[in-house]
Amino acid sequence: MPELPEVETVRMGLLPAMEGRRIEKAAVNRPDLRWPFPPRMAERLTGAQVLGLRRRSKYILADLSTGETLLIHLGMSGRMLVSGVQAGQFHHDHPAPAKHDHVVLDMEGGARVTFNDARRFGAMDLMATAACDAHPLLAALGPEPLGNDFHETHLAARLKGRATPIKSALLDQHNIAGLGNIYVCEVLFRAQISPLRLARDVTSAEVVRLVPIIREVLTEAIAAGGSSLKDYRQADGELGYFQHTFRVYDREDSPCPTPGCSGTIARTVQSGRSSFYCPACQR
Ligand SMILES: [Zn+2]
Repeated sequence: MPELPEVETVRMGLLPAMEGRRIEKAAVNRPDLRWPFPPRMAERLTGAQVLGLRRRSKYILADLSTGETLLIHLGMSGRMLVSGVQAGQFHHDHPAPAKHDHVVLDMEGGARVTFNDARRFGAMDLMATAACDAHPLLAALGPEPLGNDFHETHLAARLKGRATPIKSALLDQHNIAGLGNIYVCEVLFRAQISPLRLARDVTSAEVVRLVPIIREVLTEAIAAGGSSLKDYRQADGELGYFQHTFRVYDREDSPCPTPGCSGTIARTVQSGRSSFYCPACQR
């Protein structure tokens, strides 16, 4: 499942094809994905200029000249493909339509943006730009981890008195937006905090350590995604799924990479999801 850095990579990859450009033609090939598409979606998109592409949590938001914003959610299996762009130049060759190409946007300039989603857990919606913050998927989200509203005071207040594991508290989108299972494992490893520890038992000193580690882990992953975009020359133009090396995620039974630690990475299941951690140096 794409997490914040992957979604940010997709957003960056879409920029040259979409930002500032008009949607010459929108094709919507089925009535729904995870939820029904908004009424007359193709008509409402066709002719609109994309003024900007933003990201909130794991959602991409395209602000349109019509006063509406298109929300794009990749879900579990959604993929964005860009065709008609090569080495920074637009040309007009597009692959033949594929199974599960549910929404196709033909952009001014010749690029084609295709949303393909085999399992249909993704979503698209349209809303008034002025009312974005009230959208049901966005209204309850906590601050962006890379934004100014996320800081030690905020995190300390959200952890205080909570008898829930720190892992779950960091995954809770009300506390902080966009963190998922993979990056929470990496963050707790670097902070040397066990995912099993209760949120209320995380000390102030550890909270002060956690905030910059959260930013660092995400920033590094976004940078890795950015470099993967630079050399993306795959025929299908798929964006966002880059090779990334994790220190603990999916590394059960590997030696702990912390210098001087002789521990072994363990896996446990919390709230139905795998936690990877080193029981020796994460306390
Ligand atoms: Zn260790």
